[in-house]
Amino acid sequence: MLTKEFKKKTEEELHLLLNASEDFGRFGKTSRKCSRCGNDFEHFTMGSSYQTKCKTPDCIEITSRGI
Ligand SMILES: [Zn+2]
Repeated sequence: MLTKEFKKKTEEELHLLLNASEDFGRFGKTSRKCSRCGNDFEHFTMGSSYQTKCKTPDCIEITSRGI
């Protein structure tokens, strides 16, 4: 069922995304996989903000604005 609930991140997914984005920041890559679909993550930086997301469209993602 593709409902709003489907897009809602769990605590666990949020931590996974944070860890993945930390990996990208530190190593430029991550070996972590999406816990929801098993796909890789990708990472974008836009000025002082960044986005880490699953490569599957409409899957989990996190966006951070610079401080
Ligand atoms: Zn995914």
